[in-house]
Amino acid sequence: MQGKIVKGIAGFYYVHVVEFGIYECKAKGIFRKKGTKPLVGDNVEIDILDEETKLGNIREILPRKNELIRPAVANVDQALVVFAIKKPAPHFNLLDRFLVMMESKDIPVVLCFNKQDVASLEEMQEIREIYEPSGYRVAFISARMEENIDEIRELLEGKTTTVAGPSGVGKSSLINCLQQEIQMETGAISQKIDRGKHTTRHSELITVDENTYIMDTPGFSSLYTNDFEKEELKQYFPEFEPYEGQCRFNGCDHVHEPDCAVKRALEEGKISQVRYQNYLELYKELKEKRRY
Ligand code: GDP
Ligand code: ZN
Repeated sequence: MQGKIVKGIAGFYYVHVVEFGIYECKAKGIFRKKGTKPLVGDNVEIDILDEETKLGNIREILPRKNELIRPAVANVDQALVVFAIKKPAPHFNLLDRFLVMMESKDIPVVLCFNKQDVASLEEMQEIREIYEPSGYRVAFISARMEENIDEIRELLEGKTTTVAGPSGVGKSSLINCLQQEIQMETGAISQKIDRGKHTTRHSELITVDENTYIMDTPGFSSLYTNDFEKEELKQYFPEFEPYEGQCRFNGCDHVHEPDCAVKRALEEGKISQVRYQNYLELYKELKEKRRY
């Protein structure tokens, strides 16, 4: 039978099989010899050892689409990054670091800005203008008032999504909202997360619907790693792409070079100042080889 590992604790893997529920499985030593350890998010073939007690054994790990190290998870389709429009105001530098990391791994990102119930249209427009040129999908919601949650649910449908965001932005409220609505609609059993109960957090996928999983990513600032060269950074800013090859110099990094198409676009307001300043800051870090 085929399923997906939703949790792993001390050598046990919890495998969700659509319509049959969760099986507690062991993985035989065979994987360790091959050098592949099962990961949360892995699609696996299991043998049922006991249907009554829901025990199984993982026979095979199906090929991975991708894998993240922090958090350790396989087969991530997309990331949903949650910030608040205000209270607290978004930390764009942190957000852009996250976006760079996801771009470098080719993982699509949806930007979700919460607390629209306390925000003005101007504040939302400001955010839209920063991210619109980069082509990211931007959603404004209110978890508290349950506004635009449907839009988020549609974006998640049938996918495995890692949900990240700094604390205080309403990430837990949103996740609770998503689970509740789905439970009410389908009566499906979802694993409620016991917040605060565990001192150590394991990587865990929350089943929100058949074939729809989210992973609550603890922490945020620790997610960024810059294990690439400064010359690569520009590829991870999608809004620079239309100007590639239009600068005077081949391989222009859009920093100090004269006659630069990206800087021209910046002056014309086609690229956001906020994004460009963050680009410069990250570029400088890479140049000085300050590694995170
Ligand atoms: P987390 O730390 O990101 O998981 O955030 P929480 O879900 O714990 O929420 C942090 C605070 O923001 C709490 O006081 C929530 O009541 C509040 N909050 C969450 N969603 C909203 C919202 O949509 N609007 C407003 N005004 N407050 C919200
Ligand atoms: Zn340039």
